[in-house]
Amino acid sequence: MKNYLTPIIALLITSCSQTKDSPLLDYQLSWEDERIDFCLDYIHPQTDTVTLYYGSAFYGGQLDIFTCVKNLKAEGAALIPDSANMKVKLTDFTSPVTHLTYSIKQRLPEEVHKSTQESFRPNITHDFFISHGINLFFRPEDEEQSMRVSWSKAPDFPAFCLYNPGHGTESYTGKVKDFLYTALLGDRKLCVDTVNVNGVNNYVVTAPRVNATYNRTEMRQFFTKAYSALIRFWEADSIDTYSLIVYPFEKVSHRVSGTGLNGGFLGRYNADADTILDRERANTFVHEIGHNWISAGENDQWWGEGFNEMQTMYMIVTSGITSVKGCIDYINEGLDKLYHSKIRNLPNDSIASNFWNLGDYSWIPYWRGEVYAFRLMGQIEKATGNKHAFKEFMMAMKPHLDNVNKETFLDVAQQFLDRKLLEEEFDKYIMKAETMTFQGDPMPSGCEVNFKEDGTPYIVITDEEEFKSHFIL
Ligand SMILES: [Zn+2]
Repeated sequence: MKNYLTPIIALLITSCSQTKDSPLLDYQLSWEDERIDFCLDYIHPQTDTVTLYYGSAFYGGQLDIFTCVKNLKAEGAALIPDSANMKVKLTDFTSPVTHLTYSIKQRLPEEVHKSTQESFRPNITHDFFISHGINLFFRPEDEEQSMRVSWSKAPDFPAFCLYNPGHGTESYTGKVKDFLYTALLGDRKLCVDTVNVNGVNNYVVTAPRVNATYNRTEMRQFFTKAYSALIRFWEADSIDTYSLIVYPFEKVSHRVSGTGLNGGFLGRYNADADTILDRERANTFVHEIGHNWISAGENDQWWGEGFNEMQTMYMIVTSGITSVKGCIDYINEGLDKLYHSKIRNLPNDSIASNFWNLGDYSWIPYWRGEVYAFRLMGQIEKATGNKHAFKEFMMAMKPHLDNVNKETFLDVAQQFLDRKLLEEEFDKYIMKAETMTFQGDPMPSGCEVNFKEDGTPYIVITDEEEFKSHFIL
């Protein structure tokens, strides 16, 4: 018995000392022209079964995304795939390390119907590849586990991995979550510009198809203005690297759309134009960089998207990207779209559950939250006499930015306004989505509300200097 145990104990000790510094998930990626091969060595927990997840229905709403995964195999365990639920079960372990191999092989479909949704699909060709991390890596439930990604064979063209920005395909060790809400891309024409803001390197990444130099100088200036304004506004003491990735969208002709990620933004744009910056795109980019501070779960998009829109307007004025007139035009566009949307009175929870039906379902939280925020500014100014109501309110929200919901919001807002009124209005305008009429509502000084013939409210500036004085950093 003793003789029999000794080698087993020795084996265990060896395996423990090997694993001490190794990540629990060790991925090796290999570029194979029109696909990427994945090898995962997974030091799994000592349980009978382990579940690994792939993709997410909430992330792009693509229920067929598991079909990207080809040739899935496991050594050291039995593998039971459950493609309908985008997961695999590992069981009957014969080794402390499971070796999982698979390929991701995917192109955009011939016809793209819902382009925003399709921007989440990995697209891998012999000239370029682009994917969100969540659609590349299998992950355990515990996203805090350690994970390493290395490329055993990198593509023969430049690449950018948002989890390790500016370091191409160099090996990187972090936590599982670092590799999910991120983007990996490469392109024969990849252009990575470094933009230093307050001593920190940030990146503007694109792959121009028409004009090789696009408008990169303006783009650098724009990024510096927008990011510096946000940093000053939030009085941020530590600054993270931010990467603005704006990548051509094959076959798709929309101006721009994208997703806020950890430490950056992945936007897709119609590459027929030789510029990646115009008014609409500038507003989108400021909004996306703004997600670094303002974001929320699916039921609180009135904050994550709506208050972020209000912040966007504020930043484009304070950073000098646009005039206060441009800001009012932006608000009026939102008002007009909200008042004419067929689903304007659909309650908050019904909007959240229909988000991936896109169209107005995905825009209502932007418009509704933005209009609500603008109205709130007027109310706070009237109640407190403080012309810098937006700045004051947002600074009071700052300690709660990681967890904004109805309760944290009302707890902060009651420092400025009557709690009972706030609760009633929040319930009425955000949760139940009654139309905000603006009739008799106080507006920020220097502007007033007028009404079109059909009753749609719109804001006009009555005193430009007065109105401009609200916008401070
Ligand atoms: Zn957004």
